[in-house]
Amino acid sequence: MRSYFWVLILLLLFSSSLMGQVFTSPLLQNDYKQLTTNHQLNRFLDSLQTSSAIITIDTAGFSARNRPIPLLKISEDSMKSQKPKVFFFAQQHGDEPSGKEGMLLLAEDFAFGNLDYILSEIDILMIPQANPDGGDAHQRYTAEGVDMNRDHLLMESPEVKVIEDVFDKYRPEVTVDIHEYGSYGKSWKEFGYRRDFDIQVGTLTNPNVSDSIIKYQKKEMLPFLEQEITQQGYSFFEYTLGHFPSGERLRHSTTDINDGRQSLGITNTLSFIVEGKNGKDSTHRIRERAFSQYHTGKAFLNFVFRNTDTIGELVHQQRQSLKEHPPGDSTIIRMDHFDGEEPLDFPLKSLKTGEDTVFVVEDYHYKIKPLLKVEEPHGYLVPKGDTALVNIVRNNHFKRDTVLKRSSRTIMGYETIEVEIVENEGLKNKNPMTIKQLMNHVKYEKYYYIPVQQIRRNKIIQAFELKAMWGIGNYDKFNQLIKKGKLFPVLRVE
Ligand SMILES: [Zn+2]
Repeated sequence: MRSYFWVLILLLLFSSSLMGQVFTSPLLQNDYKQLTTNHQLNRFLDSLQTSSAIITIDTAGFSARNRPIPLLKISEDSMKSQKPKVFFFAQQHGDEPSGKEGMLLLAEDFAFGNLDYILSEIDILMIPQANPDGGDAHQRYTAEGVDMNRDHLLMESPEVKVIEDVFDKYRPEVTVDIHEYGSYGKSWKEFGYRRDFDIQVGTLTNPNVSDSIIKYQKKEMLPFLEQEITQQGYSFFEYTLGHFPSGERLRHSTTDINDGRQSLGITNTLSFIVEGKNGKDSTHRIRERAFSQYHTGKAFLNFVFRNTDTIGELVHQQRQSLKEHPPGDSTIIRMDHFDGEEPLDFPLKSLKTGEDTVFVVEDYHYKIKPLLKVEEPHGYLVPKGDTALVNIVRNNHFKRDTVLKRSSRTIMGYETIEVEIVENEGLKNKNPMTIKQLMNHVKYEKYYYIPVQQIRRNKIIQAFELKAMWGIGNYDKFNQLIKKGKLFPVLRVE
């Protein structure tokens, strides 16, 4: 009996070494009973850097409570050869830890040399823990109470600036923002069914993103990801939002530009959101959760690895168009989700039988339709004296220009004469009526000129158009900018 036992142990050791590495990330060292803390994460990454020639760790910034936010650069030549880049960032929401744990497993896999083949074609950037204060406290928000995934326009949290700065420095072609969704909520329990997809992946929804980018995400990337992820034994669904038990319409998340996916995607990046299935508490099912994220990360890398040329060319072309295409086209500033002809087959797990039941949802709002378009201006004038507005320009890396010649352009100001409150995406927002005024007399030296011909073209327009539903005027901080009788301080250069 005893010798049989030892043979078994030896066999297990032998087979695990045959299968590749044995993971030793902090989660495993904690025997899946404790999540990786920021301190453990930093120590672990230091050890990876020491033992591996392909991993470099930078401290990309610090949280509000001064915890370091490490950035991993995984590359066979220190990112010198301009390969397409994939940028993963996880745990913007501190109580969604599986992305961080999955990224650490992936980083370790690279350190062991198991994924060297990928690095012949691509470079990887990784922020495993974007919100370390929230992570250590196991809370959604930052220590200052900011929801990072609603802060990519105002950028009031230092943690969001870290993500946007890394993006701006490296301009990755593919970005993946990693989250978890709730599957064990009370209302679903009462409903008798719950969502049981291990992994949901969402693509871009803002209709100003290039059609070819959106099409490539949906038609080429999603099917591949689904295949790779399900092959590993995890269930997959396209990210679908809406509280089904209460009859809320189902749609593909938001068109808002203030989240991690859209904020980077609107620069014509192949940008995604991943939503893993959470647990009943922070560590419930954490092993499956972490490994489902690990395999999802690997699936993204395998796709990009096989399609580097297409991806490089597609993103390059579409970004060039943002920079070079002359202004004047119309751009969509109000939009909503609408019912299309196709129903959705929505599989939910019955809590009674444990079986999947497919609900056929006729009222499936997968189409985005424009509600209001405006003609693109040449650019905007932002008053230098308004610190809050200037911070928007700075934090968002909107490039300023000094070449505006007063004589060559028409400067228009917009005054609100009435404010109607409307509901889109289930959220109230302002839809002001305006009159325009010729403002050619303004002192140009008191303004920054932000031309639209740049990579952040779409974000600039969404932010600064007075009637834009996702514009700054709909934030509490800028509430006073859209009031009856008030001239909007940002001027259009037409
Ligand atoms: Zn989240």
